[in-house]
Amino acid sequence: MNILFATSEAHPLIKTGGLADVSGSLPRALKAAKQEVRLVLPAYPAAISAAGKLKLESDIVLAGSHTPVRLLQGWLPGSRVRLYLVDSPQHFARPGGPYQDDAGKEWPDNAARFALFARAVSAIAMNRAGLDWRPDLVHCNDWQTGLVPALLACRAQRPATLFTIHNLAYQGLFDWDTFTGLKLPQEWWSSERLEFHDQFSFIKGGLVYADWINTVSPTYAREIRTAAFGCGLEGLLQYRQDRLSGILNGADYRVWNPAKDKLLAQTYSARTLERKRANKQALQRAFGLPERAGFPLLGHVGRLVDQKGLDLVIELIPQLIQRRLQLVVLGSGQPELEQGLRAAARQYPEQIGVRIEYDEQLAHLLEAGSDLFLMPSRFEPCGLNQIYSLRYGTPPIVRHTGGMADTVIDATDEHLAAGSANGFVFDEMSGEALLAAVDRALGCYGQSQQWTQLQRAGMASDFSWPRSADDYLALYQRLLDDPVEHPDCRRRGVRNVQAEAVF
Ligand code: ADP
Repeated sequence: MNILFATSEAHPLIKTGGLADVSGSLPRALKAAKQEVRLVLPAYPAAISAAGKLKLESDIVLAGSHTPVRLLQGWLPGSRVRLYLVDSPQHFARPGGPYQDDAGKEWPDNAARFALFARAVSAIAMNRAGLDWRPDLVHCNDWQTGLVPALLACRAQRPATLFTIHNLAYQGLFDWDTFTGLKLPQEWWSSERLEFHDQFSFIKGGLVYADWINTVSPTYAREIRTAAFGCGLEGLLQYRQDRLSGILNGADYRVWNPAKDKLLAQTYSARTLERKRANKQALQRAFGLPERAGFPLLGHVGRLVDQKGLDLVIELIPQLIQRRLQLVVLGSGQPELEQGLRAAARQYPEQIGVRIEYDEQLAHLLEAGSDLFLMPSRFEPCGLNQIYSLRYGTPPIVRHTGGMADTVIDATDEHLAAGSANGFVFDEMSGEALLAAVDRALGCYGQSQQWTQLQRAGMASDFSWPRSADDYLALYQRLLDDPVEHPDCRRRGVRNVQAEAVF
């Protein structure tokens, strides 16, 4: 199969979160399964420099842009996956992150940036980018690629389209003026298409027009059809439920494997768990915490946003402190959460360590050096950190939601007796429920045999990519065998307008 994989971030080129981990490893797994998969990203400066050798493949002129866009070609580092970078300096050549400046403020022209990216992807998809290559299927990811299925929907002989939701909370919403500036079909401003409560929604392009929608865990695929998780899009997702499914993300165990991880102070395996200790000491040093005999170390790494539930942890600090434990947090995000954590670290310098930054090496050390991994997310489409922590023998404490519900098996008496337990799960989004789970975890930590069993069960659980990649391949095949025609394409007027919306 020829597959074009379109994404706004991919490890190791550029990363803000789990989307990059998936985009850096799924294409590689598909390639290993003998598929011709090619990756396309915007040419951010960081991606250009991480990609190494690149050559100019072609120039394409896109609608809505006067200067031609250059398509650079290289390889996803360390793989045989062909990489295209869409190089439009006016849109992408700037310091800062892929979506925000260095101060954490959204780029004001994000709509134009990702509309241009979507047009470039669509041109490649229709073999109009001078590459002499035609994909059978375009795999789009999150709102930044949401316009691709919409742009392609009514094209004759188009490839099939799959839209993957990595996080429904990010929708790419823009006002009417921004929409008109994008010069897209006016018909799209309708609640049946891309308009959403008087805003223009990029993600609706994927949700309305893609041949199939999937998300990154079976539980999240069910949750987003309810008001509690649907972010206002639950009605549309219910309408499309015959073509909506969940495939659990894999973990890239080449990058996340404690036995081979070069970013650790000491490698270890399920048979040499005592070596994990050297990582705990290195982690305590990195966070300026003293060693405290018998104190378990709880760790968290992630974006500091409402979704991740760190407000509960901040609320519980006084109770946690009494429990003879230490806590380390690595992350950055919302100012009030950053401040709350910093204040806690100032107040309890011997028990709480906080680093407000993005540091990949420290993230690995934290997975290895913590005794328990805290993840009290309100919602979690898949969540990779709990999967990594399982592999690192660091039992996670998670809320029963999304991909965490699909990967963590609670240490109940029954699961412990069966040997299947690998972490601690709580239901209610409350400080009380979280604290009860922490207490259960601390109780188990005190019983060394039970604890080792729990660690080993987590290390043995296998969430590697080949299985998930097989599920994706089966889904791709199904889309090729069973294409759909959007009702819009049967109406001549709309078809004409869409045809004019050249890429
Ligand atoms: P999300 O995609 O919602 O951010 P995931 O758990 O799916 O959450 O993936 C998060 C990924 O980003 C993990 O690989 C994690 O290690 C990484 N990450 C998040 N914040 C940081 C940080 N401050 N420093 C280093 N890595 C981070």
